[in-house]
Amino acid sequence: MTEAALLEKLKESAKSAARSAYCPHSGYAVGAAVLADDGRIFDGCNIENASYSLTVCAERVAIFKAVSAGAKKITALYVYSDSGKPPYPCGACRQVLSEFCDDATIVVSDGKTDMIT
Ligand SMILES: [Zn+2]
Repeated sequence: MTEAALLEKLKESAKSAARSAYCPHSGYAVGAAVLADDGRIFDGCNIENASYSLTVCAERVAIFKAVSAGAKKITALYVYSDSGKPPYPCGACRQVLSEFCDDATIVVSDGKTDMIT
């Protein structure tokens, strides 16, 4: 599979995961998908909590699902929200990314534009 085809697959997974977002407090639905070095894809959505600090972002959910399934090296991450506001990873997520996503391709999409880092 080409890199473009893989990124398209990640986008579809992230987009689909965003539909499961639990975001009654912000209304900001985000989905994420990660590609593990063994080829598996894991998705996640943001899960909010009335106690803001217990909220978990979509990318961390996806990474934690991957790690808990034995995939500890992430080669690509796609974060998606069609809210028009790009879902850039927060500080807590960046810390987690630094642990599992060395040299990973990271794409942030606001539903209209994909920003690749
Ligand atoms: Zn975050």
